[in-house]
Amino acid sequence: MSVPIRTIASANGLEATRLAYQMILNGSDVLPAVVEGVTLVEDDPDDMTVGYGGLPNEDGIVELDAAVMHGPTHRAGGIAGLRNVRHAAKLAQLVMEQTKHHLLVGEGANAFARAQGFPEEDLLTDKTRKIWLYWRQTSSDRDDWLPPPYEQLDPAVIEFFKLTKDHGPETVYQRSEVADRPTGTIHCSGIDAQGNLSCVTTTSGLAFKIPGRVGDSPLIGAGLYVDNEVGSCGSTGRGEENIRNCSSHLGVELMRQGISPKEAGLEVLRRLVKQVRERWLLGADGKPNFGLKLYLINREGDFAGASIWGPSKFAVTDDQGTRFEPCAYLFEKPTKT
Ligand code: ASP
Repeated sequence: MSVPIRTIASANGLEATRLAYQMILNGSDVLPAVVEGVTLVEDDPDDMTVGYGGLPNEDGIVELDAAVMHGPTHRAGGIAGLRNVRHAAKLAQLVMEQTKHHLLVGEGANAFARAQGFPEEDLLTDKTRKIWLYWRQTSSDRDDWLPPPYEQLDPAVIEFFKLTKDHGPETVYQRSEVADRPTGTIHCSGIDAQGNLSCVTTTSGLAFKIPGRVGDSPLIGAGLYVDNEVGSCGSTGRGEENIRNCSSHLGVELMRQGISPKEAGLEVLRRLVKQVRERWLLGADGKPNFGLKLYLINREGDFAGASIWGPSKFAVTDDQGTRFEPCAYLFEKPTKT
């Protein structure tokens, strides 16, 4: 059986898919290829959702989560709560290859990184520090922090929080009540000509999270899952919802029943949305107030992106080139008036 070589990723992974595809074409196993691809994004200071330059936790410290899964051997490795080391995906691959464990967390993850010779550095950039500081200054009117006047704010902060000139303590406290908690991550998966699948998910997690919070990205079955005889599924978006619905495992299990990647992804999201009852997760219209996307490939190389909210896109590279494709979605994003 020969299938088309293909790599797919979240929308921030266009270059990751391009590099991974090229490596697979040149004979690489799929796993190191997709890991090399996401490493580009971990190194990118402008991507505030992953690796170096990722948004920090509520104390202003960047904590990374990542995992890999290798289809041919069904082995996996993960890292959670990693500080001061940018290449979380490569470290997760080493957990898979050079330990008998699947998940190392916190100080243990850092000790493993030191043992493997990974350099340590501050992952916070000046831009993410300023964004975090503004978030901290405006998260509550019941502490002693105050934001600076509009004129003293960095343009990156203004753009990030979409601030207008009427910004001041009163308006910011109203704003922060409803402020979006930015999410982001990169998931990348691939298939080679023999139909072998592998994938990786790496992230700085939910911005301004409680220190020690672990999301779905390093958890097999939640943020990613592969069964080499069936397919691969991975996710970006609000991780708590993937954890309690085992989304990626479910996506693969639905494909096992012969359901297409697109329909499998949409069905996972429908079930997940049905379970959301918490006030803080629902908008006034009763729909989820968070985003979540799945990226799926089956053993034949058919693929899809599925999102709660659309229109949105994901990245693909195959013999047709490197491009964005639209995600299937459940709800249309309300247009801002
Ligand atoms: N899934 C990630 C997490 O919950 C965040 C994201 O993808 O936006 O940690």
